Amino acid sequence: MDIRQPVQKVKGVGPQKAKTLAKMGILTVYDLLTWFPRTYEDQSVLTPISALRAGETATFAGRIVNVRESCTARRRLTVLTAFVEDDTGIVQVTWFNQKFLKKQLQPGSRLFVSGKATYAYGGRGQMVIASPSFFEILKPGEEADSACGIEPVYSVSGKLTQKIFRTLQKNLWAAAPEIDDLIPEHVREDRGLMSRREAFYAMHFPADWDELKRARHTLAFEELYLIQCGLLALKQKAQAGHRGVRHLQNSTLVGNVTAALPFTLTHDQQQVWREICRDMERDVPMRRLVQGDVGSGKTVIAMLALVKTVENGCQGALMAPTEILAHQHYESLQKQLAPFGIRVAFLSGHLGKKAKEEIYAKLAAQEIDIIIGTHALIQDPVTFHRLGLVVTDEQHRFGIEQRAALEKKGTCLPDVLVMTATPIPRTMTLTVYGDLDVSRIEELPPGRQPVRTFVRQKERRTLIYEYVRQQIEAGRQAYVVCPRIEHSDEENNDVPSVEDVYDELANGIFFGLPCAMLHGKMSAQEKETVMQAFYENRISLLVTTTVIEVGVNVPNASMMVVENADRFGLAQLHQLRGRIGRGPYKSYCILVSDCHTENARERMTIMAQTSDGFKLAEEDLRLRGPGQFFGDMQHGLPDLKVASVWEDMDILTEARQAALGTLTRQKDLDAVLQTLSLQYREQFLHITET
Ligand code: ADP
Ligand code: MG
Repeated sequence: MDIRQPVQKVKGVGPQKAKTLAKMGILTVYDLLTWFPRTYEDQSVLTPISALRAGETATFAGRIVNVRESCTARRRLTVLTAFVEDDTGIVQVTWFNQKFLKKQLQPGSRLFVSGKATYAYGGRGQMVIASPSFFEILKPGEEADSACGIEPVYSVSGKLTQKIFRTLQKNLWAAAPEIDDLIPEHVREDRGLMSRREAFYAMHFPADWDELKRARHTLAFEELYLIQCGLLALKQKAQAGHRGVRHLQNSTLVGNVTAALPFTLTHDQQQVWREICRDMERDVPMRRLVQGDVGSGKTVIAMLALVKTVENGCQGALMAPTEILAHQHYESLQKQLAPFGIRVAFLSGHLGKKAKEEIYAKLAAQEIDIIIGTHALIQDPVTFHRLGLVVTDEQHRFGIEQRAALEKKGTCLPDVLVMTATPIPRTMTLTVYGDLDVSRIEELPPGRQPVRTFVRQKERRTLIYEYVRQQIEAGRQAYVVCPRIEHSDEENNDVPSVEDVYDELANGIFFGLPCAMLHGKMSAQEKETVMQAFYENRISLLVTTTVIEVGVNVPNASMMVVENADRFGLAQLHQLRGRIGRGPYKSYCILVSDCHTENARERMTIMAQTSDGFKLAEEDLRLRGPGQFFGDMQHGLPDLKVASVWEDMDILTEARQAALGTLTRQKDLDAVLQTLSLQYREQFLHITET
């Protein structure tokens, strides 16, 4: 059977089932085939009902004695309760909102159940299995096929039960699905992997745990290998055949600028600088990412790279995510570089038409050496005489479109340096930035005062804000960060919004002091006006959402209060905290949280104890899982079906190695890319061209 056909081709899928499956995203036979079990249960051991223990997951079999239907008090859900007995005892099994099961749950039927036992609510020590993870109802005389041992548990929906899913899988496999291998045979054989077909089958019908493990390993490898091939091929394509600018080894100008710095570069900065120089001196265009905490000194390195390109007779561009940030960079670079005769200019969207045109003209005539601005810099009306280096931030990677635009204009491909202050665990860099070379700055420049961080309960808010007021009266400024913008009367009423907190504070403790709001629903213009005012210390207290993450440097801001801090990820909190502690003042970050869960408590404690961004990123990933972790970060991470970015690090390393090998065998590579373009196309554009 051709697995690209619609799922209706599988025996047992009629129009009704097809509709439900479609809602789950299962449209083709292939989709059903790769709808792998969510988990598996070991049912080779049946537990007697009397031996069920609260908190433990177990499988048992019994006979239905009685079934009761009731309603939950609050949300009016239907509850079906079956009383199930075996020779040793009786237990309740409950289902929520699955009324359709009632017909099947007939007294006298045999029932197989797996799930976690708990004490029944108000039940004097009676045991209940609520929402069993797996169950099978046997008609009289029917044999359980669950006796095999390992039972797959699928994510199901609507009337499609576990049993139906298993039947559909059986029907599918009975129709001999055509499953071809996607990865070169020698790659598979070298690593003792199963064929794709064997692996698929074992995922649905594992003979034993060992086979299941091998199947998972095979498919995880396959997935990661394909993605690595894609990323590496993209990188190769970006570099091959394009002559970049070949910079010469450092000489006077770079040396003089370095010597004029009021400090010496840290060890890490020197290391990264060497890596950048090596790239720039090759004629293959550089594609390098510099990862480092806020304040670790990335901008200095970017500046040296820009000077290097200028010294080589080229122009450089520095793009920042916001105008204000761009302007700050401009002021700082202008001050440092003008004494050396380097012509630095700032291109703003707010400039008048005439002023803009003057800048365009000067760029084209190479009367400007370094241009600083937002991403608009490399858009249309801008032409460079000779662009040697583009420095950008991760959100605005220099993508295929921009490259194409430059090529059209007949320029050489510039070197590209990407900066990111979002640390991600070292092990994950390969998946997210697999198409870039990566440098890391881990040590902070000496003499930094770490921001002191405290976790405080909500009931102490008044005390906290009174302290903030004192600090403001002493001349400082403060940020208050809230998880949401607007007030909501619906659920989560207790999650503070910018609007609520602003009203409360501006009319309360901070009455008479200049306060303002900042959030993503304001226009770019409004945001900038507020930020500018805060920057100039005309605003003392800024109530804001996370929009300040990519904010400005306001050294006078020494206080930050984060409301409901446990709603933020660690990496995010770390970014936020990086906004303070940038001046000579002792800085404080107060995380307001009642820490309702153990996980929240743990995260808050780590936050208070650690200021190492890389360590926090690892902890964040561990505590919240990759879904949420990446959700915050707007990285495009390919949607992995089998592999886990967290658990399969070893497989990833192996896959990367294999992919590097494949890159040198054109025939293999062509075949793999063919597959990729069919399977991962969208994700690929996403991951590389965000
Ligand atoms: P980032 O861009 O990583 O946030 P910056 O390059 O803006 O960091 O540096 C932050 C601050 O630290 C700046 O004021 C900069 O002058 C200073 N700085 C950078 N490198 C050093 C160093 N090696 N020693 C001392 N101060 C440094
Ligand atoms: Mg900086």
